[in-house]
Amino acid sequence: MRHPDDGAELDPRQRAWVDVEADAIRSNVRLIRSEQLGHATRLMAVVKADGYGHGALAVARAAAEGGACQFGVATLAEGIELRRGGIEAPVLVLGNLIDAASLAQCVRWNLMPTLSDPDQARHCHDLARAGGRRLAVHLKVDTGMSRLGVPLGDALPLAEAIQELEGLELAGVYSHLAMADGPPDGRADAVTRRQQEAFRGLLASLQDREIRCGLRHLANSAGTLRDRALHHDLVRVGLALYGHSPSGHLATPGGLRPALHLRARVTLVRSIGAGVGVSYGHHFISSRPMRLAVVAIGYADGVPRLLSGRMEVLHRGRSLPQVGAITMDQLMIDASGCPDLQAGDTVTLLGSSGAAVLSPAEWSDQCGTIPWEILCGFKHRLPRLPAAAPEAVECGQH
Ligand SMILES: *Cc1c(COP(=O)(O)O)cnc(C)c1O
Repeated sequence: MRHPDDGAELDPRQRAWVDVEADAIRSNVRLIRSEQLGHATRLMAVVKADGYGHGALAVARAAAEGGACQFGVATLAEGIELRRGGIEAPVLVLGNLIDAASLAQCVRWNLMPTLSDPDQARHCHDLARAGGRRLAVHLKVDTGMSRLGVPLGDALPLAEAIQELEGLELAGVYSHLAMADGPPDGRADAVTRRQQEAFRGLLASLQDREIRCGLRHLANSAGTLRDRALHHDLVRVGLALYGHSPSGHLATPGGLRPALHLRARVTLVRSIGAGVGVSYGHHFISSRPMRLAVVAIGYADGVPRLLSGRMEVLHRGRSLPQVGAITMDQLMIDASGCPDLQAGDTVTLLGSSGAAVLSPAEWSDQCGTIPWEILCGFKHRLPRLPAAAPEAVECGQH
């Protein structure tokens, strides 16, 4: 049966959406490379978790144009998505693949697995040989994160074993920093220094044994911004790529631009008197007559309910406070200060509007979490749409 609307396109900006500015990603990669990295240092764009919620393929393409030469993903499916999308550059799977079927997929799709034990290495070798191929792999070493990686003391024998397996090519040796976003003095510094020393010690013994270990890498965004000595051959940049600083403790290049702009439509504007309760629980009660606007986005879209009454939105560069409990699909704002706001207008919840910018760190501080979790929290209900740099508009201008 044909429905009356078959073939009719729904406007993806009808309700709430994420504008993704590829040009910001491109320019952030260029900026990080020119201001932070030495000439020989490469940049791996970390595009796991659907490119931190921006859309992995769009981010990978833009990052490649900016000069990223490798990609990092967390899962096999994320790697395959890049390959299906036509990305041919090296892709490293940062997560641990332990079963034969997953490792076989790495061979099939030419994805580099992260290895941290001898069984994994032997498995990969067998699969690569069976496919008549050599598989590029990275060896991960635990220097103090206590997450993935072979224990430091077992790293040298494992690297030697990998070198012996002709089905494998050791394309990289890496580790991950636990506290690079911490303050520049005290424990974060001591832990980071200890990790760096452990990593360097291993690299020196690999060199002594004449083991060719490919690219050596240690730094995430925070490590990249913290100290050039942490860069080695390649840096794995996630958060900074998207235009955000991993920490208030680190100097971040001035020109980083947020690539994500979270926007939603106003669907109703009304006047209420003084003493009127707003939203579930009436946690907000108007103290004066006011203009109240309903915005079509809620916690089911990824706006944390914890932000109720503690966030603002931008309308043409002007800030308006959110009031009352954030509901599943909608939230209310106090539009008293913006008499020109009407139903159908777009408001910005994160990212830029005119000269004003709202950053995920403002949300994460309020919610007791980190900007990474905010960016990864936007749900499928929000379309990710390619967008040009937003124009500067003044409040009151139409
Ligand atoms: C996620 C991740 C990164 C990127 O971290 P950012 O802090 O976002 O730059 C780098 N390396 C590994 C191993 C990761 O899991």
